[in-house]
Amino acid sequence: MDYNPEPYDDDNIFAKILREEIPAFRVYEDADTVCFMDIMPRVDGHMLVIPKTPCRNVLDASPEQLAACMKTVQKISRALMGAPYGADGITLQQFNEGDGGQEVFHLHFHILPRRAGDSLRP
Ligand code: C5P
Repeated sequence: MDYNPEPYDDDNIFAKILREEIPAFRVYEDADTVCFMDIMPRVDGHMLVIPKTPCRNVLDASPEQLAACMKTVQKISRALMGAPYGADGITLQQFNEGDGGQEVFHLHFHILPRRAGDSLRP
């Protein structure tokens, strides 16, 4: 693999959320991950899942960080499909590096609960 990322920047916004230096609406937390509401939701209920340990994106993530995030993503997604929220489907999004659409350089997964016939806001 020929991937030489920028060093992890401890001042990125999600690192600050983890340190509780800036607020976030947390909906779930376990030993390894945090899930909070996205501040610019592309659909109602748009959430982000992040690992608690430093990691830039999927490209430099450890198998353990990926597994922990996906475990939380699945748990939240299943909960959203059930009552009372009752989503009709779940879209997952994840971006890597600026040219891959990444804006915040701490690994995160978008959970987008979908309703029949809806569309993502820009
Ligand atoms: O493209 P990327 O997935 O990196 O975009 C970062 C996401 O983080 C955006 O959806 C943005 O709304 C969200 N965000 C947030 N809280 C912040 C800063 C960004 O939910 N304080």
